[in-house]
Amino acid sequence: MKASHLDQERLLALQQIDIDLLKIAHKIKKFSLNSNLESLNRSLIDIKNLLIAAETEKSDIQHELSRSEIDVEQVVSRIEKDEKRLASGTGTPKELEQIQHELGTLAKRRSELEEVELEIMVRIDDASKRITDLRKQLTSLEVELTKVQSELEIEVRNLESAKQSSLTAREALTPQIEKELLTLYEKIRGSSDGLGAAQLVGDSCGGCHLKLNAAEMEKIKSLSDDEVFRCEECRRILIRVK
Ligand SMILES: [Zn+2]
Repeated sequence: MKASHLDQERLLALQQIDIDLLKIAHKIKKFSLNSNLESLNRSLIDIKNLLIAAETEKSDIQHELSRSEIDVEQVVSRIEKDEKRLASGTGTPKELEQIQHELGTLAKRRSELEEVELEIMVRIDDASKRITDLRKQLTSLEVELTKVQSELEIEVRNLESAKQSSLTAREALTPQIEKELLTLYEKIRGSSDGLGAAQLVGDSCGGCHLKLNAAEMEKIKSLSDDEVFRCEECRRILIRVK
């Protein structure tokens, strides 16, 4: 195949654009799979779940407290009733003695219930502290997440704009390359890790980095500029740059 030397050099420029595009695509993919972002998101979900659990627990304990308060109130009102009765002095001595006895039992019951109430209040306090702590963690995680996300967005936006520039350059360059040469390049590129053309560097192929033997070097030197030469090893289009 023949193609002007200028076309071959343009093909090398196109190859560089395609390499850039591959690198950009790789970086965009890497950013979208950002492990830091993933772990932050996972922690955020964990904290939110813990917060829901702690809030539910606190609300349950608050109900427990309400019930316990009612229990205490009932005993207190019983005590007040009995004390009034005792103060009025109405009733037989036996009845009054029974009331005295009941007051003793009620006082004991009251102190037991108040102890239970106190324990419940301590548990509410613990749950509240846990909730405050979790909310703090949630806020700092959200701040961190927003920061990482916006950094990533900037990176990806820059990469997208670099991609756009490369695509524009590619669009401008391809019509300037002879069709047959371009088709061959695309065919090789598709099956050779995105590298269809390489430069001859000294006596090595810039694609597979293998040295050409003396006979091949003699052959390449004897070829005219417009002759399209392919590496014997990797079959890539090997371009001589003057
Ligand atoms: Zn090669």
